[in-house]
Amino acid sequence: MTETAFTARQVAEDGTYPTTCWECSTCCGALATVRDGRVVDFAPNRYHPYSKGAFCIKGIRGAPGITYGPGRLLHPMRRAGARGEGKWARVSWDEALEEMAERLAQVRQKYGPEAIVGATSGAYFSRSLILALTLRSIGSPNWMINQDLCGGCRAVSARAMGASTSRAARTSKMRAAR
Ligand code: SF4
Repeated sequence: MTETAFTARQVAEDGTYPTTCWECSTCCGALATVRDGRVVDFAPNRYHPYSKGAFCIKGIRGAPGITYGPGRLLHPMRRAGARGEGKWARVSWDEALEEMAERLAQVRQKYGPEAIVGATSGAYFSRSLILALTLRSIGSPNWMINQDLCGGCRAVSARAMGASTSRAARTSKMRAAR
């Protein structure tokens, strides 16, 4: 790592930085503006060679909204009341992982691996790969990503059939008024 590289705990100086939106796997070019260590604006980057300023409302609202949302989950929680009652108790990561592993093993044993299903929102390196590998290790092929619910599956079909569908062309229809 170079001296200028950021680590997870370093805070960026005030300024506007070119980056990539990861709210979905389209990965549009973005500009993140930082003030006092917080992202205060997340905007399209019209100079990005691929998305060329195409952006959607999820990208604009997603990063600051999720990162600083008061209801954001930062640690595992176990339901502490009746379902729907809204009562939760914090548990450690070790407890959470142990309990999840036990319960998944019970379901697998009782109903078979295909009874276990997963869904996530990112198709690339982070969330979906972890989920896909976890489910594969359990023996279930049943997992889905955000693109199973949006235009992504249409784009994949179009490419598989030889149609010309560029990501930038798709996202250009998703411009949001700011
Ligand atoms: S389509 Fe929207 S959510 Fe997806 S990468 Fe682009 S701006 Fe982000």
